Amino acid sequence: MITLEEAQQWTCDACGKPLVMREVEFYYLNGSFHVNLPACPECGLVFINEALATGKMAEVEGILEDK
Ligand SMILES: [Zn+2]
Repeated sequence: MITLEEAQQWTCDACGKPLVMREVEFYYLNGSFHVNLPACPECGLVFINEALATGKMAEVEGILEDK
């Protein structure tokens, strides 16, 4: 899980603003999930890298498997 402190170490390339944690809805298979991801407070760009995406996907798959 990304913490606010970790998010604030990153800045938006376009705005140069420190990122904030933001709840984002995304869709996977036939469900939607809310996850907290670092996002720019200025332009709303969600910062997601490959490692984070993989981790989140594994997390979601874990949720699905529990059902
Ligand atoms: Zn921005």
